[in-house]
Amino acid sequence: MVETATAKAAKAQHYSFFQGVERNFDKASTYTRFEKGILEQIKACNSIYQMKFPVRIGDKVEVIEAFRVQHSHHKLPCKGGIRYSMDVNQDEVMALAALMTYKCAIVNVPFGGAKGGIKINPKNYTPFELEKITRRYASELVKKNFIGAGIDVPAPDYGTGAREMSWIADTYASLKPGDVNALGCVTGKPVSQGGVRGRTEATGLGVFYGVREQCNVADDMKRVGLTPGIAGKRVIVQGLGNVGYHAAKFFYEGGAIIVGLAEYEGGIYDPKGLDLEKVVAHRKATGSILGFPGATDIKNSLETLEQDCDILIPAALENVINSSNADRIKAKIIGEGANGPLTPEADEVLLAKGAIIIPDMYLNAGGVTVSYFEWLKNLSHVRFGRMDKRFSENQNNSILATVESLTGKSVTDIERRQLLHGPDEVDLVYSGLEDTMIGSFHEIREAMMQHNLTDMRTAAFIVAINKVGVAYEELGIFP
Ligand code: NAD
Repeated sequence: MVETATAKAAKAQHYSFFQGVERNFDKASTYTRFEKGILEQIKACNSIYQMKFPVRIGDKVEVIEAFRVQHSHHKLPCKGGIRYSMDVNQDEVMALAALMTYKCAIVNVPFGGAKGGIKINPKNYTPFELEKITRRYASELVKKNFIGAGIDVPAPDYGTGAREMSWIADTYASLKPGDVNALGCVTGKPVSQGGVRGRTEATGLGVFYGVREQCNVADDMKRVGLTPGIAGKRVIVQGLGNVGYHAAKFFYEGGAIIVGLAEYEGGIYDPKGLDLEKVVAHRKATGSILGFPGATDIKNSLETLEQDCDILIPAALENVINSSNADRIKAKIIGEGANGPLTPEADEVLLAKGAIIIPDMYLNAGGVTVSYFEWLKNLSHVRFGRMDKRFSENQNNSILATVESLTGKSVTDIERRQLLHGPDEVDLVYSGLEDTMIGSFHEIREAMMQHNLTDMRTAAFIVAINKVGVAYEELGIFP
């Protein structure tokens, strides 16, 4: 599932994935004021490292092909995931690196975009062999100065996770003894290895914050015939994986009604609302979401997306809403939790119907945002909240005691606990993510208003180009 909508559309029209990204860029750049040379520089991949290295697998030597592309050095370090897949190729890594530049700019994460890939099917290797491949890749990056807290900071992507990130951090630390910031060379690590609390749910939570902010804009809600606010909105989520499950959980806790859920085995729909945790328990017990008590089964999973709802969150695969089903989608708001769930044709159909499409480049940026917080934690060598939690609690206690003594009234025990609570790491991470998603939403909306656009995707690109363009202008061009 590595091919995105842009990649597929590009192939169908005989241009590469990277050229497809360039086309979107060119469309948006007509709304910006930068000279051609600056735009060309923003678009170009700054450094491309294609490597081949030998790894002994069993009694044979295998030559492994891998890449790391740094798309933009306008801010350092560069940042972007590493994927393990047989589909990895230079054009794809270049395109994904470029998208990371724009995504980081949109959510004000001060990094250039990058991406890495190893052309392997991880299922064909034992954990021991994968560790050898990962460590060799990391050492190749070290040799060419392509990794480091101030240079380039990878993260997980398809086929990689916290385990691979730990191996990379350890390889880097072994080759760079004394580098006090070694742990900041990679994010997505386990919390016990310098990871940050809140990273697992970050993308789903970011999806919730972004859609909630959209629902709080009364004018936009009026335009699509909805009332402001998230409470009572009917939501369908496709995919109960990392992004979909957490997004659904936060919508549920935020007062929305989860009316539909879709997984690969089928979908369920209940206009009265589904209890998410009970559905998850049912799936664990029976192996399927189908047959959930009180809900209607939808055998063809994709048809779940066409059911009546206010908000649709495709959070599983790319291209699921396309020219064949876009006109049957009833949702007024489509929030792209997955990467590329809408094809360009679906975009056109839904925009013409007046729907609001909140684009992936902004909406699923919660992961990279919290990766940025992890990097900050690694550079400061202290857990968020460690220095000020007790201080805040003591200060809150004094304020409360003063208020109680002045008024002669006491708060309840529950109120006392809430009022005294000083921030833990996870509270601060959530708060930083919320602030980021709200701020970036309004920057994109402002660009829409300024250019009279209904297309939030183009507006998001405009915002990104403006930020990277200003950085180049202000830095000047080195002679
Ligand atoms: P995941 O593997 O945890 O979850 C995907 C879920 O989709 C699984 O539960 C799977 O069973 C389900 N699924 C598979 N085929 C389906 C089908 N035909 N119909 C319905 N459901 C189906 O993956 P994830 O990390 O949640 O990523 C989902 C999407 O979000 C991907 O496009 C990914 O690129 C994007 N994304 C993820 C993150 C992140 O932090 N995890 C960040 C940005 C973007």
